Amino acid sequence: MQEIKVTLTTEKKPKPDSSSLGFGNYFTDHMFIMDYYDGKGWVDPRIVPYGPLALEPSAMCLHYAQEVFEGMKAYHSKATGKAVLFRPEKNMARLNVSNERLCIPQFDEEFMVGAIKKLVAIDEDWIPEGDNTALYIRPFIIAVDPHVGVHPAHHLMFIVIMSPVGSYYKEGINPVKIYVERNYVRAVKGGMGFTKTGGNYSASLKAQDDANKLGYAQVLWLDGVERKYVEEVGTMNVFFKIDGEIVTPSLEGSILGGITRMSCLELLRSWGCNVSERKLALQEIIDAAHNGKLEEAFGTGTAAVISPIGELFTGDEKLIINDGKIGPTAQKLYDTIVGIQNGIIPDTFGWVQEV
Ligand SMILES: *Cc1c(COP(=O)(O)O)cnc(C)c1O
Repeated sequence: MQEIKVTLTTEKKPKPDSSSLGFGNYFTDHMFIMDYYDGKGWVDPRIVPYGPLALEPSAMCLHYAQEVFEGMKAYHSKATGKAVLFRPEKNMARLNVSNERLCIPQFDEEFMVGAIKKLVAIDEDWIPEGDNTALYIRPFIIAVDPHVGVHPAHHLMFIVIMSPVGSYYKEGINPVKIYVERNYVRAVKGGMGFTKTGGNYSASLKAQDDANKLGYAQVLWLDGVERKYVEEVGTMNVFFKIDGEIVTPSLEGSILGGITRMSCLELLRSWGCNVSERKLALQEIIDAAHNGKLEEAFGTGTAAVISPIGELFTGDEKLIINDGKIGPTAQKLYDTIVGIQNGIIPDTFGWVQEV
């Protein structure tokens, strides 16, 4: 394993007030960087003071979006006081899946989990205390060759930055209003929907912006071919509880396989719930709502953990779900996952790792 060279900052920044963090507004004192060169592999891993990068304007990522990223969080365990990560090996494994799709070279996952732990340990005093706060970790890889021809890059950079965050939505764990998107699509099978890459997000901005203007927090994406099946909600996976069955769309290439989604499925199965991963038509949800069988809906993702859906606007009508309140399944999942992350609930699955 390569040694990580550490250069500490001489000027530590003041910490923001933990009650006014928002999401992704502040960055810690240090960042991790390593380079990839054809013929050399991933080299020169280092932790350095957080600051601007020097890139050529011709850097390939700026033109053709050869870029992948991850999102994970560090917390202080309320039981031990130690800094912990939640299933970091899953994020690193997924990043290599994204890499494969975008012609970005594979990296050593175990090494990177160690590097992230080292970075968190150095900036541990940036982990905010207070309900619904965490240190958000953003690993990303960019193609930096100074070249405006289209080809897989020969020089890339793997960077990790970190940001103390509060609730992702200003609503907190309160239910959000969601707009069913019928005009734009996020991804199709064969595309990049199953990867975490910036292009998927730029493709989603227009729909998101239109929905925001109409007073909705996020859009519900339908499949890009038939516009019939539900896929994801904004940047989260989505679950519906219909007549006792908890359903989430199956992963068939256009949906991002969330680690929160995976954890929810494992928890629900361990509780003996009736859970399915399958195709779910929007019409089935509408029919269930009309028949009084649509019990709950919620999104899942690292940023918000669980985000209950209180209203779904289908384009024709507004479906109010569980009287616009959080349902028992969403509440129990939220309490359990956050409890395990914070060390309040025993980690029987072995999901939490000390840094
Ligand atoms: C990151 C992401 C999710 C959630 O994944 P988690 O691993 O649970 O954070 C869901 N959908 C999209 C499109 C994402 O980018």
